[in-house]
Amino acid sequence: VLVSEQDVEKEAEDGVPAPATAVVALLNSRRHSVRPDVLDDPQTALDVVRRFGHTGDSVSAEQLRKVRALRSGLLAVVGADEPDGWAAFTESTSEVALRQDFSAPGRVDLRQVAGDPVVGRIALDVAELVTAGTWARVRLCANEVCATAFYDATRSRTRRWHSYEICGNRTNVRAFRSRRRE
Ligand SMILES: [Zn+2]
Repeated sequence: VLVSEQDVEKEAEDGVPAPATAVVALLNSRRHSVRPDVLDDPQTALDVVRRFGHTGDSVSAEQLRKVRALRSGLLAVVGADEPDGWAAFTESTSEVALRQDFSAPGRVDLRQVAGDPVVGRIALDVAELVTAGTWARVRLCANEVCATAFYDATRSRTRRWHSYEICGNRTNVRAFRSRRRE
């Protein structure tokens, strides 16, 4: 059965795990195409860190420095299994200590006991995707002037664009390029 790109796109709207949504938002907070770095503005930076459990009304410069380092590390391993990239990511999460909590009957929870909570949550979210074998579904849009990160929820794992309407269509891509030049 042939599936059109539109069908693929529609299917992709469902079935995105919560950690993937947060990690994709983190990747897309970087400066790319026409967008500024979301972490440069303390208010928009809050939107990103709240996805990783941050509850305060502000985010410190030190926290943002750490989040930026994690983001760069992840960008190095998106769409490529880069051992050096993973080593760098491991290093930037090394302050995080976790322990198994068996106190609730019938379950075990992984709890963070040391390190920045946002760094811990990012590490756990990425770990969840890697463990589930879904990290490879996190990719950058094949339109290189766009490069927006997305999660490919399609069964075939063949989605190439963050949006078929915007980037999967040559005419739209040309319009996108000219808008970018303006
Ligand atoms: Zn795109």
